[in-house]
Amino acid sequence: MISMNEAVRIVMDSTSRLDTTTVPLLESLGHTLAVEVVSDINMPPFEKATMDGYAVLGSDVAAASRENPVSLDVIEEIQAGSVPTKSVSSGTAALIMTGAPMPDGADTVVMVEDTESENGLVRIFEPTETGRNRVPMGEDVREGDVVLSGPVRIRPPEVGILATAGVTRVPVYRRPVVGVVATGDEIVEPDQHPAPGQIRNSNGYSMATQVLRAEGTPRYLGIAGDTVEALRQVMQEGLDTCDVLLLSGGVSAGVYDLVQGVMRELDVSIQFDRIKMKPGKPLTFGVRGSKLVFGLPGNPVSSLVGLELLVRPALRKMQAMSDCHRPRVRARLQTSFTQTPGREQFVPAFSEFKDGAWTTRWVGHHGSADLFSISQANSLFVVDADRTTVEADTDVDVVLLSEW
Ligand code: AMP
Ligand code: MG
Repeated sequence: MISMNEAVRIVMDSTSRLDTTTVPLLESLGHTLAVEVVSDINMPPFEKATMDGYAVLGSDVAAASRENPVSLDVIEEIQAGSVPTKSVSSGTAALIMTGAPMPDGADTVVMVEDTESENGLVRIFEPTETGRNRVPMGEDVREGDVVLSGPVRIRPPEVGILATAGVTRVPVYRRPVVGVVATGDEIVEPDQHPAPGQIRNSNGYSMATQVLRAEGTPRYLGIAGDTVEALRQVMQEGLDTCDVLLLSGGVSAGVYDLVQGVMRELDVSIQFDRIKMKPGKPLTFGVRGSKLVFGLPGNPVSSLVGLELLVRPALRKMQAMSDCHRPRVRARLQTSFTQTPGREQFVPAFSEFKDGAWTTRWVGHHGSADLFSISQANSLFVVDADRTTVEADTDVDVVLLSEW
């Protein structure tokens, strides 16, 4: 049986970047930019005022004070979005608004707070250093500069840069379409009241939303019963229409655990079928061409953890993201934890950064079906396979699942 690290390596080695597409600017958030973006303008495009005030010659106002104010003729008013029509010379000033272009001749803006105006004159009560409260053309970016260099994750500041550079259709890596299937004769949809022996499908929905969190596009394919025919049909549909196929259930050792057999029948080459980890030892991974197929365990906690640790990094790699894995920190374990050794364990935990250090504690789930406890968790702490007990106050590795 392979370790979790080995499983992650196999999955990532089997995963390639998808092709690129274009999305409207407002939909680009969270995508990975696929190209280099060059600015077609200078930013700012002209020398501009950064304060409301008066555009003047610095030499005129260098000696201004409360006792000896300097009086200047106001020759025009320049609003943001307009263009000055007059030059400022010694003895004159132009009223100017933040973001408006500086008039010829002026090299300084006196803040309006340091002035008083009356009958076409402005009186200046404070000295202003020459060059203040204005920025030169192209101070931030020059025409022709590379402003973004893909692959780079698009966050709100990058959206702003794209807007500044005039990019309204953004070339990005395509999001993987991820087919989601729940398997099991006992599974019914959430809008049904389970009859004796049945349970509601939770995995289909938590899996689909985990895919969304990984910037993938889920395609819910419904519930397949535990028959070869039902599985063959839904898996064929998934392989035809999706980049990645996720199935929950049907991968352990029971008589009706048929997922692996059908994968083989559909030419999915199985890379591994169990991992030395807890929760969720039975976890099947196969590939067909560039398509990935994951048979996740049916137990809700196992399915959630498997998806976070194995599927999510692959979905992110497909989009050329550089940070594919959830961040890990070292944290101080608050109460001791005991396990049966043999498998590396990822324990649902609540972790927080307090008084300059990370702490973590088990949320006390009572098995792989206990979604209610895991909803208290924001992380997983890791216990090595060969450990029996981890004492309180020991440092452990924690995988942060902070979006939960
Ligand atoms: P299996 O791996 O198919 O043997 O399923 C393991 C356990 O997970 C069983 O108790 C199932 O009833 C449960 N299970 C399987 N699929 C789902 C699902 N989609 N939603 C909630 N529980 C499930
Ligand atoms: Mg089952």
